[in-house]
Amino acid sequence: MDAAPADLIITGCTALLHADPDESDPRTAADRIQFRPDTALVVRDGILVDVTDSAAVAGLASTERIDARGLVALPGLVNCHTHSPMVALRGLVEDLPEQEWFNDWIWPIESNLTPRVIELGALLACAEMIRGGVTCFADHYFAMDVVARVVRVTGMRANLGEAFFSSQGPEGRARSLDFALRHRHTADGRITTSLAPHAPYTVDDADLAATAELAARHGLLVHLHAAENRAQTDACLDRHGHTPIETLRRTGLLDVDVLIAHGTGILDRDLPALRAATGRIGVASAPRGHLKFGWDTTPVRGLVDAGVHVGLATDGAASNNTLDVWEAMTLTALVQKQAERDPRWMTARQALRHATLDSARAVGLGTSIGSLAPGRRADLALVDIGGPHTQPVHDLAATLVHSARSSDVRTTVVDGRILMRDRRLTTIDVPAVVRELGELLPALVDRAHGRRIQRYDP
Ligand SMILES: [Zn+2]
Repeated sequence: MDAAPADLIITGCTALLHADPDESDPRTAADRIQFRPDTALVVRDGILVDVTDSAAVAGLASTERIDARGLVALPGLVNCHTHSPMVALRGLVEDLPEQEWFNDWIWPIESNLTPRVIELGALLACAEMIRGGVTCFADHYFAMDVVARVVRVTGMRANLGEAFFSSQGPEGRARSLDFALRHRHTADGRITTSLAPHAPYTVDDADLAATAELAARHGLLVHLHAAENRAQTDACLDRHGHTPIETLRRTGLLDVDVLIAHGTGILDRDLPALRAATGRIGVASAPRGHLKFGWDTTPVRGLVDAGVHVGLATDGAASNNTLDVWEAMTLTALVQKQAERDPRWMTARQALRHATLDSARAVGLGTSIGSLAPGRRADLALVDIGGPHTQPVHDLAATLVHSARSSDVRTTVVDGRILMRDRRLTTIDVPAVVRELGELLPALVDRAHGRRIQRYDP
């Protein structure tokens, strides 16, 4: 082992490892997750350079050391689809179907957004995610220059896309491209970018096809909502005679890397097109929001069989109320069993696999994060399983998925930098953010002007 001083050494943890972090087929068995006891993780220059026995690093110098006895080290969780600034609207509009939710509340209120509200919302979102062991998020929203600044100062990793509608004209797409090219590989490489058309029902086919061409030319991911629910798919079938996934195929979006949010309206008839796709297809499943809107769930089993990377997500807090990816993992394990009427499906190990490697792949970072393997970026969470609700431990995978909670995360590390240590955030002053955001809320939620940024009419 290299004896040069390390930046960070974590000793004594039980580490979640993948038998082969480089295999990229989501159909491979989830039982290739292993737990290695008394492990040391050695970090230099933001990279996990060694995963070894604790005894092997006893004499190795390091700037920082964490004694992690009793803790489990996981790859940092990835929130594969969110609108981080929407935490400012958390709990504002409840118990409505999506048409009224969008047309009467969200899209009128979003015409009031200011850069400062977006910044404070994103800061609060990052604080919540870091506290829950989330180290990376895929964000799809407006004024993303502001969110990029938040990612820089908080130390998070993110894939960011500037959202657009065809109602904005060609400038919408041009702005999304400009954002993606200006910001990719910034924040010491922690920011990657996407082109971010809103959805096939708000972005027309010509605009989607042009987006696919731009993605191919510039090597960019495309992140959009599609087949969000069954009603959208039915409306698309009525109007166009084909499904939203078929729209993606026709416009070339399955020939580039694409991240599809929700996909609960994906039908069996869509699976052959997804299987035949030449791009890498990810689907971000946000089970809490799906339950809350009364939607079906993402058809994970069919998607996995079709070679799709199903990642976990929370969507925005305006609909989902939390940015708790841990909870999304637990709900995925439960809801998928119910949906398939099969208790053998979506084991705890499968759920962990979706929360780690598959989520990393869905956002295009499958070779740099998602696994605690030498050479990967040092993004991880240390989880305390000593609580009464997590003891005793017979099967650590089951403990993590079905007993532990996001509040059991003690320490969160991104790129080797400690963003939370023993539950204390190191980069965000939450009380100050909450105080200022509170002052801005009355102007934010005013709907008396009668404007809205878009109309929901799938
Ligand atoms: Zn969304």
